[in-house]
Amino acid sequence: MTGWRDDPTLRALVDRVIPADEYPSGWQAGVGDFMDRILATDLRGRVPFVRAGLALLEAESRARYAGTRYADAPFAALPAAVQDGMITDLLAGNRRVDWGDTGPAEFFELMIRLAAQGFYGDPDNGGNIGGVSWSMIGYRVLPPGAEWPDPPPPQEAPVIGWAEVRGGYDAIVAGAGAGGGVAACVLAEAGHRVLLVERGHWLSPADLRPDHLRNQRTMAGDYDTPAGPPAQGNPRVFAGAGGDVVVWPADPRWSNNAMTVGGGTRVFGAQAWRFCPEDFRMASVYGVPPGSSLADWPISYEDLAPCYDRAEWELGVCGDPAGNRHAGPRTRGYPMPPLPANGTAASLHRGARALGLSTSPIPLLINSVPYQGRGACLQCGACVGFGCPGDFKNGTHNTVIPRAVATGRCDVLTGVQVERVVTDGDGRVTGVALVGEAAGRPVRREVTAARVLLGAGAVETARLLLNSPSGREPGGLGNDHDQVGRNLQAHVYAGALAMLDEPAQDCLGPGPSISTNDFRHYNEGILGGGMLANDFVMPPLQAWSVLASQRAFPTWGLANKQAMRTHYRRLVSVAGPVQEVPNPDARVTVDRRTTDRFGIPVARLSGRVHPEDRRTAEFLTARAVDWLDASGATRVLPFVGVPDGPSGGQHQAGTCRMGSDPARSVTDAWGRVWGHDNLYVVDASLHVTNGGVNPVLTVLALAYRVATAAAGEPS
Ligand SMILES: Cc1cc2nc3c(=O)[nH]c(=O)nc-3n(C[C@H](O)[C@H](O)[C@H](O)COP(=O)(O)OP(=O)(O)OC[C@H]3O[C@@H](n4cnc5c(N)ncnc54)[C@H](O)[C@@H]3O)c2cc1C
Repeated sequence: MTGWRDDPTLRALVDRVIPADEYPSGWQAGVGDFMDRILATDLRGRVPFVRAGLALLEAESRARYAGTRYADAPFAALPAAVQDGMITDLLAGNRRVDWGDTGPAEFFELMIRLAAQGFYGDPDNGGNIGGVSWSMIGYRVLPPGAEWPDPPPPQEAPVIGWAEVRGGYDAIVAGAGAGGGVAACVLAEAGHRVLLVERGHWLSPADLRPDHLRNQRTMAGDYDTPAGPPAQGNPRVFAGAGGDVVVWPADPRWSNNAMTVGGGTRVFGAQAWRFCPEDFRMASVYGVPPGSSLADWPISYEDLAPCYDRAEWELGVCGDPAGNRHAGPRTRGYPMPPLPANGTAASLHRGARALGLSTSPIPLLINSVPYQGRGACLQCGACVGFGCPGDFKNGTHNTVIPRAVATGRCDVLTGVQVERVVTDGDGRVTGVALVGEAAGRPVRREVTAARVLLGAGAVETARLLLNSPSGREPGGLGNDHDQVGRNLQAHVYAGALAMLDEPAQDCLGPGPSISTNDFRHYNEGILGGGMLANDFVMPPLQAWSVLASQRAFPTWGLANKQAMRTHYRRLVSVAGPVQEVPNPDARVTVDRRTTDRFGIPVARLSGRVHPEDRRTAEFLTARAVDWLDASGATRVLPFVGVPDGPSGGQHQAGTCRMGSDPARSVTDAWGRVWGHDNLYVVDASLHVTNGGVNPVLTVLALAYRVATAAAGEPS
């Protein structure tokens, strides 16, 4: 502990940010304990800044009130109204003393953010004693009457160590995420000896408990997450409007998905949409707008449909396609019925009926009933971004990867990075170079295999190919036509937040339970479109930060606390992913001047989204506003999430697109890198376009297709 608990200035400041009313103040709710803990651990680097800010606050107080009745009174002794006035004035930039490098606005923003984290975050982080803020606003983790199942007995992860890595594998799969997990299973079950290499770790449910500061959902920006790489040693370069900047994993510009066994599926929201037939023929349906690389896929919906079906049944999806106007043809339904709808869906149903919108439940990779030996979802309010404590969410870590291991033919090596794909003198792929750490030092080793499959995610797979030049391909494997890394795309999000006139948020997870697919295609003057749905249950801290970023209410003080109380249970968001128009300048390259902790050049993300994406986003936002207006919303806050730079993050895709022409793509229609008969891509990099829905089911389906071909099996 650092003694912050006894700091009167800090205490007074926290209690102005979250004052007492009929509910405890921030300090009474344990924010002091939180500060003590966080400034001694994750944020110890901010201690000098915080100390300087508090000292300046005292100096400012003395300078302002010299000669008045408050002369020489410390900040903590000033009346609350005077303290509030002083904070307001300083936030507006009016200062009496020289704050030097410590900008008052920056200081207060940090202190306000930390106070909110301590007050609205989870009690395990040291504040929010007894969940006081959660009961104040009406958030709960478990539905009434539900209880967590007994935790499963701790199990040793079925992984091997460096010493057990053999050579001469039939296949090496780089990355144990969505695509890599499926690929390892298909190959191992087809009789191949497989090495599955993952740079992250095999995490247990306890490692991924609902920690509201360190997770892939609230991404407070200040903290490492267990399912992401630590900041230390893991930079990337982001080339935005202001030029190149080095960024770290907690920064959205780093474009983090999740790095652990299961990849994104370990902590995802589990929406399991199929792309629709038009999504595979975007250029034919809409033409190719200037500046874009919009193209048709070399395969059709019908080609992929059997693999979608396999993904839905082998991993387990609940849902019902009725009401989805753009659901493609299917040979059977989902293996499980949809989960019961969340409380916000009832108002949205009424609004949709009034507008004549067709709606459907959201397909989810979640057990709505017991399936494949695991139980049914309890509908807790802490789903997306966290691991499921009951293992009811279906990712590759609890379905296909254990199946691969059960064959006895799949070795899983974790905490080790594939550094490069290795080729022989003729440029033929012979295996991979691995790098890990032992006793704090890098350890390197090459491992041979008959074939290599890359499933490292759209940013890292491109980086791997570019970092693997050979005499025959000096610009990187598969990069003779300078295509590797281009067409980086993901999903610009569009929609609106709104306050309903009645409390409707019952915190029944995961949250998305009503969608309309009416705007996915054939919207007048728009290329493509997207699906709209209600949002995942917002952890209180996320609701606080969303409302703060919208400037919907003051970000601190009684007005903020009361707004959280009044609005949390009325807050609803309708949003959806925009089908982006890819362009070749949005790309991943490698920055040879910036290296990671092993000295490997890192990914550089550059370019912009296509102007069509803003138009589509504005169109979808307007539809979300219509829907919310018709649903009885009293206040609607539209948003259009177009980034300053390329689109990436959790839905990153497109950097090694499949195609029919080697000059315009990186792989053939079977995911085989052009010019190589034993090098494949099995992740979201393959996507030619990324659909107007969440992408993971397509990643899984493509991995089934590619791995089945790589295994030499009929598809
Ligand atoms: C919080 C969250 C919510 C999401 N919600 C949804 C949703 O509801 N629906 C949906 O469709 N999608 C969702 N996604 C996105 C989805 O998870 C991704 O689209 C999907 O996981 C991409 O699959 P992939 O195989 O391309 O890569 P990933 O699943 O990211 O897997 C790549 C793996 O490769 C590993 N790796 C990277 N480099 C190396 C290397 N050099 N050596 C070894 N290993 C390496 C990484 O650690 C990672 O585990 C969500 C993602 C997150 C994080």
